[in-house]
Amino acid sequence: MIPVTKPYLPPIEKYKQYIDRIYESGILTNRGPLLRGLEERLADYLGVKHVVCVANGSLALQVAYKALKLKGEVITTPFSFAATTSTLLWESLKPVFCDIDAESFNLDPELIEQHITFDTSAILPVHVFGNPCEVERIQEIADKYKLKVIYDAAHAFGVKYKGESVLKYGDISTLSFHATKLFHTLEGGAIITESDDIAGKVRKLINFGITDPETIEGVGTNAKMNEFEAAMGLCVLDDIEKISLSRQKMIEAYKEKLSSKAKFQKINEYSSELSSYVPIAFENEEKLLEVKQALEIERVYPRRYFYPSLDVAYLSNELSTNSISLSKRILCLPLYHSLKSSDIDRIYDVINNILL
Ligand SMILES: *Cc1c(COP(=O)(O)O)cnc(C)c1O
Repeated sequence: MIPVTKPYLPPIEKYKQYIDRIYESGILTNRGPLLRGLEERLADYLGVKHVVCVANGSLALQVAYKALKLKGEVITTPFSFAATTSTLLWESLKPVFCDIDAESFNLDPELIEQHITFDTSAILPVHVFGNPCEVERIQEIADKYKLKVIYDAAHAFGVKYKGESVLKYGDISTLSFHATKLFHTLEGGAIITESDDIAGKVRKLINFGITDPETIEGVGTNAKMNEFEAAMGLCVLDDIEKISLSRQKMIEAYKEKLSSKAKFQKINEYSSELSSYVPIAFENEEKLLEVKQALEIERVYPRRYFYPSLDVAYLSNELSTNSISLSKRILCLPLYHSLKSSDIDRIYDVINNILL
């Protein structure tokens, strides 16, 4: 059986050594020593100023909206995982969908301005499948209209733009460390910012607004990451370079075989190599369904990331043509550390048989 992804599990002996330390210290959560160590190592590895680890990627987004005091309307992409939009609605913000570019699959910056109203407070783009957005153009528009920018960077762990972390752009970038993501902590996420002020606010917000045992400085929530999750993160981080490189080779192998048969995402020319997903777009939904069914007969389980388009799913009255079209035609192929090149050959043979 070949699933679309498999979580990476580090050597159990290594994980056990961390668990022993948790038992010795008796500290299970509340910014314990392992979490502090993980945040420090992540900031160093990613090349960013502040990494605040949280319980998951959805809470990372919700806390980001609160920290930047968003209100009214937020311009976002309909081509993403449900959480990008559902977190806005959960926080009583109105998602305003702006269509994507048909090649990059990211928010089309040339369409943003027409969606800006007096109620717009922010832009929430996604580096979809890790592909960097047009970050400079987006910042120009945000500056012109005094809007905040939050990047949902759940797919962009370790991605560089012009040689530096893409997570440095915007007021905040958020990460997800869910088990299915490239880097994981079982469940988890992080808020990334270059601003000391925003980082301070975020630390308060994720801990009930409490700043010391006898001071409550306002309203907050509980979005803390625990020590067992941090321990997993420390283990996975040791191997992340190796995992990324092997996945890059697999993506190359897929591209070599399939680029004449299906359409691949156009990667930003200033981006580093991506290693999160293998999305391919077919001519139409019928072809996609044929391929998917043929793969499933062979016990290969690709996933329709991202279907349905979020403007359709959340019943927006403004529909985005490119996103709706792409979401019907796109399939993510299996990609994980232990996938074999013979598996990729097998997947190719099945697809090739249909698309001949
Ligand atoms: C996974 C994901 C999230 C949510 O992260 P969780 O850790 O699962 O809450 C948000 N946005 C995108 C684009 C994602 O892929």
